[in-house]
Amino acid sequence: MFITFEGIDGCGKSTQAKMLFELLNKNGGAVLTREPGGWDGGDALRSLVLSGGLRHGWSEFFLFMLDRAEHAARVIEPALAAGRHVICERYHDSTLAYQVWGRGLPYGPLRDVLLLAGLPVPDVTFFFSVSPETALSRVSRRGAPDAFEREGLGFMKKIDEGYRTLAKNERSRWVVVECGKRTPEEIFENVRTSLRGKGLA
Ligand code: C5P
Repeated sequence: MFITFEGIDGCGKSTQAKMLFELLNKNGGAVLTREPGGWDGGDALRSLVLSGGLRHGWSEFFLFMLDRAEHAARVIEPALAAGRHVICERYHDSTLAYQVWGRGLPYGPLRDVLLLAGLPVPDVTFFFSVSPETALSRVSRRGAPDAFEREGLGFMKKIDEGYRTLAKNERSRWVVVECGKRTPEEIFENVRTSLRGKGLA
């Protein structure tokens, strides 16, 4: 099964992805990976993104597409073909949320390119929903308010709206997890219950 985890910076998706990986990885049956940068050679692209080194929405889009195509070919597709579960932090929905809602690129052409590339489609996508204000306070506490610092709270509000719209338009694939003030364990129980409903975990 191909499972993707989405949300704004600081939503807690990495913690949840690790918890799910520990649960599913009995006998090496799962792979935990992420975008950008989840393949050999991807670190340079990740550093470029995290350092704020790109100035134009289209350069971001093409960089994320390059990253995703290599990541899919080298990591995701081989793992799925070997019958392993793949848990991936961020995937093409990040591109739609960040580059369409955040940067103002056109939805239709971007979605068409994502589809044309013929990359694996997730079986289930979790959206970890936290208010941008809560996410900002978490990211500040961990001492790396990178994207918030660069883009501001308003940018994250647009991304949040993007995710909500995407989830609403394709309910069969998305699971929206309202995180609020719940503990990671309580949130993970939600993840487990949803996956159990799909015959997993
Ligand atoms: O926290 P995470 O590992 O997801 O960091 C990836 C960074 O890349 C975040 O700061 C996020 O804002 C940024 N990003 C982006 N556009 C995407 C995906 C991620 O700007 N499509």
